[in-house]
Amino acid sequence: LDLSSLLQELENRWLSEGYESGELEQEYKEKGRSILTQFYNDNIETFTLPLAVEKRFALDIEGVTVSGIIDRVDKHMNGDLEIIDYKTNGKLPPKTRIATDLQLPIYHMAAQEMFGIAPKKVTLYFLVPNQKMSAQKTNADIEKTRRTILTVADCIGKQKFQPYKNPLCAWCDFIELCPIHKNDPVILAKAAANGKISNGNNSGIKNSRNGNNGNSSIEHAVDEYFELIESLQEQRKRIMQLQADIHSYCETNKLESICGSKGEIKRGARRTTHYNYEKLRSLLEPSGLWEKIIDVNSVSLKNLLENGGIDQLTGAEIAKLVESAVESQEISYYLSIRDESR
Ligand code: SF4
Repeated sequence: LDLSSLLQELENRWLSEGYESGELEQEYKEKGRSILTQFYNDNIETFTLPLAVEKRFALDIEGVTVSGIIDRVDKHMNGDLEIIDYKTNGKLPPKTRIATDLQLPIYHMAAQEMFGIAPKKVTLYFLVPNQKMSAQKTNADIEKTRRTILTVADCIGKQKFQPYKNPLCAWCDFIELCPIHKNDPVILAKAAANGKISNGNNSGIKNSRNGNNGNSSIEHAVDEYFELIESLQEQRKRIMQLQADIHSYCETNKLESICGSKGEIKRGARRTTHYNYEKLRSLLEPSGLWEKIIDVNSVSLKNLLENGGIDQLTGAEIAKLVESAVESQEISYYLSIRDESR
């Protein structure tokens, strides 16, 4: 299989459902193409047919069935088996993951049972950062895994489910009942934002965020603050709308000011000039003027034009140079208020 056929396979098997937009879908497809290309280039030289891919297994551990699917099993030239599990995480996990991960010793046991030999290596292959993490599982690791499986199965049988804090807690359907997050305002707020807390309990959670169960004055302050910010945003929007209407009226009627019962609004024009940075630099640098306006802004340029530069150039001469570097100019209009009541 060459690279283009591999990428064509991606195209053939691609499912378009579930993306928020066409752009997002294209972004993911592009990521997929780049991961496959990298994978192909890195592995084509040493490629041999795997012993198994997507291999289903069902292990019996003292009456407890553990089932799963192993991504890939390789048999190397010397007869050693390697279990490979592909990961699409964006980042590498901490190094301890390979030692503590329960999945790998289970795969080790499953491969040993299916192929009759203990795998030499178990590997997590992180496709995005393009890194592998490998380990050898010892008899002690396998024994520990068996005990863990039996303990977990026993707890499930007895309906004993100890909560275990993990990165998905904010999406857990049981977070309202979970004892370990009872007083954790951050995670409860996240869960509420994810819709994992029923409306009826929102007020309780709001209060527990502030460490009390009553309606404290600080909560009122926070609520009022939000209300004010919201109304400020609304007012800003309305002010912009009114400004646009007034500008438009003045423009149509060629007015420089307009009166209402509360005062007069004057309409002025503001010119913004855009310079060609490189050109301006090449013109001013030989005369040592560039340093004076190293960050080109209207104030420093105005000073330069008004006060002149160093001995050789007058303000008028500098103005000519600066003028020739103008790229474009914009005029914007502003309103200033004269309040009759003051
Ligand atoms: S919130 Fe859910 S997932 Fe997290 S520890 Fe509690 S029960 Fe477990």
